[in-house]
Amino acid sequence: MSKLKNKVAIITGANSGIGLATAKLFLKEGAKVVLSGRRQEALDEVAKSLEGHFITVLADVSKPEDNIKLIKEATNAYGNIDILFLNAGIAPIAPVTEIDENHYDDTFNINVKGPILAIKAALPHINDGGTILFTSSIVNKKAFDGFGVYSASKGALRSFSKVLASEVKSRGIRVNTIAPGPIDTPIFGKMGLPEDVLEETGKEFAAMVPLGRFGSADEIAKTALFLASEDASYINGVELEVDGGLSQI
Ligand code: NAD
Repeated sequence: MSKLKNKVAIITGANSGIGLATAKLFLKEGAKVVLSGRRQEALDEVAKSLEGHFITVLADVSKPEDNIKLIKEATNAYGNIDILFLNAGIAPIAPVTEIDENHYDDTFNINVKGPILAIKAALPHINDGGTILFTSSIVNKKAFDGFGVYSASKGALRSFSKVLASEVKSRGIRVNTIAPGPIDTPIFGKMGLPEDVLEETGKEFAAMVPLGRFGSADEIAKTALFLASEDASYINGVELEVDGGLSQI
């Protein structure tokens, strides 16, 4: 099995959760992987657990210069890019009455501006026939209290992805979006909720899912592999919900 043999893949937010699981799977499938994240210690730590052709690049996706650096270091190491997986994101919680400018700026700078600037820097270096993947969320079509700005950011990303798909179609570049439901990753611990509230919220989320559980990062990684590989050669412009049916049933 080597569905991505010699393909060059960049994954943002690759030192944790969905990004890390995808990096591991892509490496297993023969890709050369550029893992980016914003904490050097975390990148160094995960590098110890990986096998195959990979490099790590420290890049804060909210900074324009870091996106340029990411693409430069990736192409210096492996040449042109086949797969760009824009996955880094944050999901801070704030009810509408508590939203402030910092909350808005942090969320949009990381979840929306980052991917857009990375694409701009990467496009001249993406091979014709390549693939761009985004991680959105089912929150862009289903309301969860406290996630107003986060939901708006993922909706913006989804809208952007459609225009991008149209603009790159002449090069045979496919653009698709994965919309996860609740996935068991460290993101929940970063939302600023007390431990007991987090546990209760987790139970409530799981109970809402028709399959009755959280998904795993590996389940999203397998979706990313499918969409990035030739198996999905005629799939373009979609947003694929991977949520145990939460947004569908
Ligand atoms: P995670 O917290 O484990 O991973 C997020 C990654 O993004 C980390 O590697 C983090 O370092 C990186 N990141 C955050 N800010 C960054 C920045 N400024 N620059 C560079 N990297 C940055 O969480 P995850 O669940 O694996 O999240 C991955 C993506 O999945 C996010 O876009 C998130 O919104 C989305 N998502 C997650 C869930 C879920 O339930 N876990 C559901 C829907 C969507």
